[in-house]
Amino acid sequence: MSEVLQAGPFRAWLAQFVASLRGHGGTDVPCGTCVGCCVSGYPVPIRATDALDDVLPREYVVSVSSISKVLVAREDGTCPMLQQSGCLIYSRRPQTCRDYDCRVFAAAGIDAGGPERSVINERVRAWRFTYEDEQARRVHEAVKATARFIRESGAASAGQAPSPGSVAVLSIKAFEVFLDRSAISRPPREIAAAIVAASKKFDLAI
Ligand code: SF4
Repeated sequence: MSEVLQAGPFRAWLAQFVASLRGHGGTDVPCGTCVGCCVSGYPVPIRATDALDDVLPREYVVSVSSISKVLVAREDGTCPMLQQSGCLIYSRRPQTCRDYDCRVFAAAGIDAGGPERSVINERVRAWRFTYEDEQARRVHEAVKATARFIRESGAASAGQAPSPGSVAVLSIKAFEVFLDRSAISRPPREIAAAIVAASKKFDLAI
């Protein structure tokens, strides 16, 4: 039987994740011994407030604009700060690492990516949320329906699928569109406009 991991009560997780998106602290992910996000080739955005200039290896820090830098992975996809004993700078790790929560993919009902994200995908498929009540279950179904719509319509309109991370986050910002069960019968263009509007509303509320 495949592994099952307790992701916690859905509504409580959602509130914490939304707060994290709004910059009010990271989520409390029960990672255990998993280092999936440290071995999956993610470039890690580094903020000035991370104050890590003294510890990051220069050859792995790339400027993407005059004010923004990323820590790029080694060729094998592992983060240069990861050693056998774990993250060398765990107590000072970048805010991006603190905010990363692979349960968002489980919430959206999608994988984190292709084979390069296989460690994370395995974990994503193992997470199981519990539900405080029927409304929490409905909200989760709405998040998944939103992600499904974004993936299908995004692929159709842009000619390529949007990234799993952007699908998952957008589905959290705009799930209200699919809380109304009649949404499914609306023309796709109307649904897409409603998702964009809900996402803008979310961003403005930050
Ligand atoms: S800085 Fe540390 S926590 Fe962040 S990806 Fe690298 S090894 Fe993982």
